[in-house]
Amino acid sequence: MSYQYIRGVDFYRWALAEIAGDDRIALRLGVAARELSSVTLPDGTPGVRVTTDEGVLLARRVVDTRPRRTAALLYQCFSGVEVEHGGALATEPGAVGLMTRMRGTKTDGLGFVYVLPLSPTRALVEWTRFSPVPLAESVVVAERDAELAAMGLAGATIVREEGGILPMGRMPTHDAPMPGVVLAGNAGGALRDASGYAFLRIQQWARRCADALARGEDPAPHPAEPWVRRQMDGIFLQALRAHPERTAEYFMAMARGVAPHRLLRFLTDRATAGDLASIIVSLPLLPFLAQLPDRRARLVAAASAARADRVAR
Ligand SMILES: Cc1cc2nc3c(=O)[nH]c(=O)nc-3n(C[C@H](O)[C@H](O)[C@H](O)COP(=O)(O)OP(=O)(O)OC[C@H]3O[C@@H](n4cnc5c(N)ncnc54)[C@H](O)[C@@H]3O)c2cc1C
Repeated sequence: MSYQYIRGVDFYRWALAEIAGDDRIALRLGVAARELSSVTLPDGTPGVRVTTDEGVLLARRVVDTRPRRTAALLYQCFSGVEVEHGGALATEPGAVGLMTRMRGTKTDGLGFVYVLPLSPTRALVEWTRFSPVPLAESVVVAERDAELAAMGLAGATIVREEGGILPMGRMPTHDAPMPGVVLAGNAGGALRDASGYAFLRIQQWARRCADALARGEDPAPHPAEPWVRRQMDGIFLQALRAHPERTAEYFMAMARGVAPHRLLRFLTDRATAGDLASIIVSLPLLPFLAQLPDRRARLVAAASAARADRVAR
């Protein structure tokens, strides 16, 4: 596997080139979709009415990618800059700093810096905080700027900025899906709970969804998270939420105790039972057991962890 950096603008240009000249596709940029409602189409079949800034659209099927607010266990709040630093930042060519300058306190939660060198004098530097509530953009930007100053980058030229808030461990909603409508992207559950990664999962879903549409079937939703992964991510996030001051320690324990190829498989949804065992064994047992819902589950998990320890060793 290689670590890849894809600029949004390049991705959109590529997508536009892919659909250019296809007269089955009409692109309406800058038009916002508002309300969706179930209707009967002129041919008597069920469909969806989409109200937009520029009138009404009738559709047999709708793929809805609009972001929506969801309650979550933690929020990954981040703000980054691409900087031209003239060599002020010593980076290792070809090496990305995934979680550097990590620290956590009970009140502020975990904070860390992501450093992606783009050339010897240019880098993307991103400040991230895991917070139990979505943080105001101004707060994250101020913390980012303080971090840049501490890294000797106060005088660096800012080429561009980016930022966002990603919900980690979304609470289930009980809204019934509207017939003919599938939610996609982050709104459709694409974000991996424990990492906030979504891009590759969205690409995989898009391929399956396009194939289904080409066969004349309904668009495919994002697949449900497998039970084991959902449980592990959920327990991990609950432990981070309960002990923000220990979060840096948990990540370092995983980085030290789990072989890189195992960690990579876990983060890219391809973990084997041995990988999961190795991750469980690397982490301190008690704070994670405490997140299990009842005493019996805690005893069963303790026994499984002991077994996992033997497997991992
Ligand atoms: C700065 C940043 C960096 C990130 N980096 C990574 C990363 O490195 N790896 C990773 O896996 N994930 C990353 N993410 C997570 C990211 O959210 C996903 O990778 C992915 O782009 C989300 O896709 P999406 O389809 O849900 O949303 P988007 O890509 O935002 O697409 C939503 C689309 O819906 C359109 N839309 C919204 N509202 C309306 C409306 N009312 N009417 C019509 N159209 C509308 C928007 O214009 C947009 O085109 C990053 C997120 C951000 C913000």
